[in-house]
Amino acid sequence: MLFTRVIEASRQIASTRARTAKIDTFAELIRSAQGPEIEPVVAWLAGELRQGRLGVGWKTLVASRPEPAPEAALTVADVEAALTELAGISGTGSTARRAAALSELLGAATAEEQDLLVRMLTGELRQGSLEGLAADAIARAADLPAPTIRRAAMLSGDLPAVARIAITDGAAAVAQIGLTVGRPVRPMLASPGESLSAALAALGPQVSVEYKLDGARIQVHRDGREVLVVTRTLRDITASVPELVELVLALPCRSIILDGETLALNDSGRPRPFQETMSRFGSASGELLLTPFFFDCLHLDGMDLLDEPLSRRLQALESVVGDHRIPALMCPDTVAAQAHFDAAIADGHEGVMVKALDSTYAAGRRGKSWLKIKPEHTLDLVVIAAEWGYGRRTGWLSNLHLGARDPDGGAPIMVGKTFKGLTDELLRWQTEEFVRHESHRDAHTVYLRPEIVVEIELDGVQTSTRYPGGVALRFARVVRYRPDKTAAQADTIDAVRSLR
Ligand code: AMP
Repeated sequence: MLFTRVIEASRQIASTRARTAKIDTFAELIRSAQGPEIEPVVAWLAGELRQGRLGVGWKTLVASRPEPAPEAALTVADVEAALTELAGISGTGSTARRAAALSELLGAATAEEQDLLVRMLTGELRQGSLEGLAADAIARAADLPAPTIRRAAMLSGDLPAVARIAITDGAAAVAQIGLTVGRPVRPMLASPGESLSAALAALGPQVSVEYKLDGARIQVHRDGREVLVVTRTLRDITASVPELVELVLALPCRSIILDGETLALNDSGRPRPFQETMSRFGSASGELLLTPFFFDCLHLDGMDLLDEPLSRRLQALESVVGDHRIPALMCPDTVAAQAHFDAAIADGHEGVMVKALDSTYAAGRRGKSWLKIKPEHTLDLVVIAAEWGYGRRTGWLSNLHLGARDPDGGAPIMVGKTFKGLTDELLRWQTEEFVRHESHRDAHTVYLRPEIVVEIELDGVQTSTRYPGGVALRFARVVRYRPDKTAAQADTIDAVRSLR
């Protein structure tokens, strides 16, 4: 296949807005690629090079950009071979040898091909990446269901290889693609539950009711003496968390993938503020030790458990992690479940997770088989200002600045902002009403005398250096205005701080 075919396809994809047309073009390109051409073609369109970063700087590129070739003759295989050669150049004199290899490649390319090659080599390709379309295009080209391809890509983390296997080896081979210990998978996510009783009613009695800890998600891989710890976004933090590495190395197993939450605890075992946990994720120098609490096991000693029901995964978990299991109750009745929830809150945690014991691990997806239940916090706060909206809300006062009462009688103390939960009716009302309470304004904001009280629902509060009271609301949304209350009856800054 000529390299220029890739350019034509990417141009065609860029020129149409219809997703299906883009997928068709991408799929057609994959279909016309022969065996070894499939991986590079998919990688390039997905914005990657299979050779990784080539360490070719702009300077070398500019210096080695020769006269373009008059006609397109480079093949996909030529380009792939040249990239592999470039990646292999190291040692003394490598800069000059790299420049020579580059100049040979670019000299064989037309002006248009040179442009694409330069974008590939500088990593600029990633910006226009078609990664989002790739799974659908591979599925179309291989005539397989898109979820099958997406799952294989998720587990292997290697989209080009999945494409090659799908096209050349077919469905059965794709189904064989499993987890690799040491290669992170996207974590399963939870959906919000209405209430504990609603979650129990929805999922039935076969559930695990677990503490929901307010720490940081971790995924831990161990293969023999090798350990990898990644965050929710799959960032490698192994080097920052030696205590977790040590703990995982001491577990009675050879290989394992664990999912869990980690946090810093104080001397009495209560969680320290969220930011203190997060501060450990950057450097190894923090003094606070992190404690892990594991809640899932995706692999144990050579066995992938991802497609096993949660009940089976929890057995595996319990057999290995001992005390580091998150506090959980299996199949509790409603009274016991409520007591567990109350205990979680009393211990300073966020709430509980209710999980269906027959559910499999849906990597990267927000399923209905994990429901998170948190207590509802509401606060009555004073509106101290409102910002003019934009977009659909242009002309309306929208984003509210919220203040808590100063128990010593000073001005309300700002604790957050929100425009969530405002219906059109409320927007209209507040735009008319607020100007009657205006103290002054600037280009974006109308400031109010402290006279209007609004009921705000929130998930909790966090320590803040931005706001004067040292706390900020988390996920605040408007429930309703409280004309029945005056600012003197609003919640105090102490009430807000007590939610920390
Ligand atoms: P949220 O961030 O509110 O969507 O809640 C989901 C997050 O809660 C997960 O990503 C975990 O970091 C965290 N979490 C705490 N405890 C648990 C638990 N028992 N099971 C699953 N996730 C948990």
